[in-house]
Amino acid sequence: MKPSEYIARGVKLRKYQSFRSYTRSYGEAGCVTTALIDGIFGKRSMISVFTDVKLKSVIFGKLPELENRSFKCPKCSIFDISGCGILGVLFHLNDDHKWRREEIGEWLDLQVSETGRLSETIEVKFNLVKEEV
Ligand SMILES: [Zn+2]
Repeated sequence: MKPSEYIARGVKLRKYQSFRSYTRSYGEAGCVTTALIDGIFGKRSMISVFTDVKLKSVIFGKLPELENRSFKCPKCSIFDISGCGILGVLFHLNDDHKWRREEIGEWLDLQVSETGRLSETIEVKFNLVKEEV
C-alpha cells in the first residue's frame, strides 16, 4: 500500500484532524502521524504511549523507502526539520502548515516514488557530509 492509502484508512478511523497532539476529543481527532499509524494497524492505535523509536519501526516496517532519509519541507524548504526524518516532516506539515492529512499523504506518495527518490539524491549526499563533521 502507498502512504496515502494508509493515511486514508486512518482518516476514516478518526474523522477530525488534531494539531500539536496525537489525538484529541477523546480519540475522535488525530494528527497525520496518528492517521498513518492507525492506517497501518487497521484500527485505532494507542499512539500516545508509543515512543519515537516505536513509531518509526511501525512506519518503516511497511514503508522502508522512508527510512534513512531527510526531508525538505515542500512549503518553506526547511531542510531536515528537527533532524528526525519522517516524523519531523509529518509534525511540521500537520502542525505548522496545517496541511490536510490527505494532502500530506499525496506528498508522501511522491517521496516513495522513483522520481521522489532521485530528487533526494543530492540531499542524501549532503547528509552524509554533515554526519562526518
Ligand atoms: Zn515548512
